[in-house]
Amino acid sequence: MSILVMKFGGTSVATLDRIHRASKRVAAEVAKGHDVIVIVSAMSGKTNELVGWVNESSPLFDAREYDAVVSSGENVTAGLMALRLQEMDIPARSWQGWQVPVKTTSAHSSARIEEIPSENILRKFGEGMKVAVVAGFQGISPEGRITTLGRGGSDTTAVAFAAAFKAVRCDIYTDVDGVYTTDPRICDKARKLDRIAFEEMLELASLGAKVLQTRSVELAMRYKVKLRVLSSFEEQSDEAGTLVCDEEDIMESNVVAGVAYSRDEAKMTLISVADRPGIAAAIFGPLSEAGVNVDMIVQNISEEGRTDMTFSCPTDQVLRAEKALNEAKERGDINFHDLVADKGVAKVSVVGIGMRSHAGVAAQMFRALSKEGINIKVITTSEIKISVLIDRKYMELAVQALHDTFDLDKAA
Ligand code: ADP
Ligand code: ASP
Ligand code: MG
Repeated sequence: MSILVMKFGGTSVATLDRIHRASKRVAAEVAKGHDVIVIVSAMSGKTNELVGWVNESSPLFDAREYDAVVSSGENVTAGLMALRLQEMDIPARSWQGWQVPVKTTSAHSSARIEEIPSENILRKFGEGMKVAVVAGFQGISPEGRITTLGRGGSDTTAVAFAAAFKAVRCDIYTDVDGVYTTDPRICDKARKLDRIAFEEMLELASLGAKVLQTRSVELAMRYKVKLRVLSSFEEQSDEAGTLVCDEEDIMESNVVAGVAYSRDEAKMTLISVADRPGIAAAIFGPLSEAGVNVDMIVQNISEEGRTDMTFSCPTDQVLRAEKALNEAKERGDINFHDLVADKGVAKVSVVGIGMRSHAGVAAQMFRALSKEGINIKVITTSEIKISVLIDRKYMELAVQALHDTFDLDKAA
């Protein structure tokens, strides 16, 4: 028995008509002899709407209830797709996360999958079911409550199922026909890649390229899942889309593989903090406990024993960050004069394995930005990426300028 995992994102199931179209693709794979596990997202826009309702009801919401609400979009599409397949005489059944069960940690709103027992679904395949339509993005905690896997989490559901069921392949159907050198929606010259290395995809995803959720790439890399990204709107051949694969399986590649951006960043600065041993721990401990994902950190030069500390985090976590820091100040754990939040910044990054062996990428990046008159507020680097924080209004210009300077429109 060969199992294939097919994941359809929000735009691919946005209407009944599109669910119908996706079902036809599933039927074609069933006709080839596969048992298929379909992972579905909520209809596009649905999860945003649900998140909006939660925020409106309770700005510093209880994450258990957030999960109860935002997981619901996927339940609808799973049921609708199963119905559609049944109409096509294909034995199909929908599964919510808890029914499989997709066992996760209890980190509500960003839970991790711990185990997916395969017995229930395999038994149903044994009894003649041809398609299991599973609601993506959701699972169940050890306490028995519904959890979600973080935005974009259906990708991770798909790869986790592919690993658990030893699927022949995990096909991620989306609204672009593969992974590009940068988001084709903001750069006309973006070029589709036939292959991309796991490590590069991992960095691009974690730096904002939302075509795949970061965790899904991590899992695919660890469990050697054959992962492909392709369009649900175009005719497909077996060679279509982009294969995410090992570095060794790529013949030639550019020094810089791609440019990623993250639009909704905030830069927070604690003004005049006492500069003493333990101060970083006293600041970032409470932030981490409050669930704030701190990204870049800069400590400025200290004068007369006091310094400014700057960090970045997603804009929707600013409220939590402010609360955590003000509480720490009230407890007397830290002492600062002011806390300034700049919610108008974005992060732009270049990624490439080639940077390990090529010097000068950072200098070229900074030159390209300076030529456009773009001021860099914070810089971070690692072995295969360089990120800068800039004013959000220059984000698209920066992405285009970097795409140009590294000639990403041309293959290696
Ligand atoms: P889905 O709803 O199918 O999960 P997403 O919206 O989450 O789709 O992800 C697909 C989107 O990712 C594309 O529409 C595109 O705008 C964006 N994207 C960002 N970076 C890239 C990239 N490097 N290659 C392809 N798409 C990208
Ligand atoms: N519906 C969820 C989201 O919009 C999960 C997903 O689509 O992957 O984040
Ligand atoms: Mg997605």
